[in-house]
Amino acid sequence: MVDLLYADGGKLNWALLSPLIITLWAWAVIALEHIFPYDKGQKLFRKGWFTDFFWYTIVQSYVLSLVINAFILWADEQVGRPRWVSDWPLWQQAILFLLVHDFYIYWFHRAQHKFPILWRTHEAHHSVKDVDWLAGSRSHPIEIMINQTIEFMPIILLASPEMALIKGTIDAVWGMWIHCNINVRSGPLQYVINGPEMHRWHHSVEYVGDGMNYGTKFAFWDYLFGTAYRPDKKPPGYGLSEPFPDGYFQQIAYAFRRFDGSKPPSAEQRTTS
Ligand SMILES: [Zn+2]
Ligand SMILES: [Zn+2]
Repeated sequence: MVDLLYADGGKLNWALLSPLIITLWAWAVIALEHIFPYDKGQKLFRKGWFTDFFWYTIVQSYVLSLVINAFILWADEQVGRPRWVSDWPLWQQAILFLLVHDFYIYWFHRAQHKFPILWRTHEAHHSVKDVDWLAGSRSHPIEIMINQTIEFMPIILLASPEMALIKGTIDAVWGMWIHCNINVRSGPLQYVINGPEMHRWHHSVEYVGDGMNYGTKFAFWDYLFGTAYRPDKKPPGYGLSEPFPDGYFQQIAYAFRRFDGSKPPSAEQRTTS
């Protein structure tokens, strides 16, 4: 088994390691949610579980990875593959792409909460009422196509070949972490590393100011740009205040309904608390 984790040349075999890490991490987070729940009474097989697990996590991820890969490989043929940072150590490449992408995603995410047309690509993600390890998987395919093309194009063109799988593994692990229903207390680390203490508030039905906690991997963007919110209380509930359809295909189609002048919650549901 250990030998299998190494490909030719003694390098780690990320094609095998990646699903192994993601699966073990999922089981660990599920167990910790059960032992140390933040919101008590949330069920493992909560409403929307099948939609999020089967349709978003398995089917959509697979189909979109084919589409995004094909597009990036087409771009690769146009520009060649300069691989500018491929001779850096892997951990330095990982930090570079984590930082650059997270800076981009902070601002794109903030724009999604501000502009009605972009909110259409993001409201599915906010429709989960029981935020847990699986909740992060619910993302509209348009949102995924925009974000993952921008994320993986520079990685595939500029970095070592295994970096796309390494970054994809970090994304999956982190996505489960920031949404998990675990009663985490990370102390001063919370100013640097984003986690459930801040991201569960991002999913709250209660909005504060221009919205809060837009960071994904790092928390310092929110402190730098004035959107950090970590009160000493729990969110009153999660999800959207308006009705949202159940079912994968209904949720995808809902983004294309006629515009009725409604605004994203950051513009509409301000509270003064
Ligand atoms: Zn959001
Ligand atoms: Zn989220």
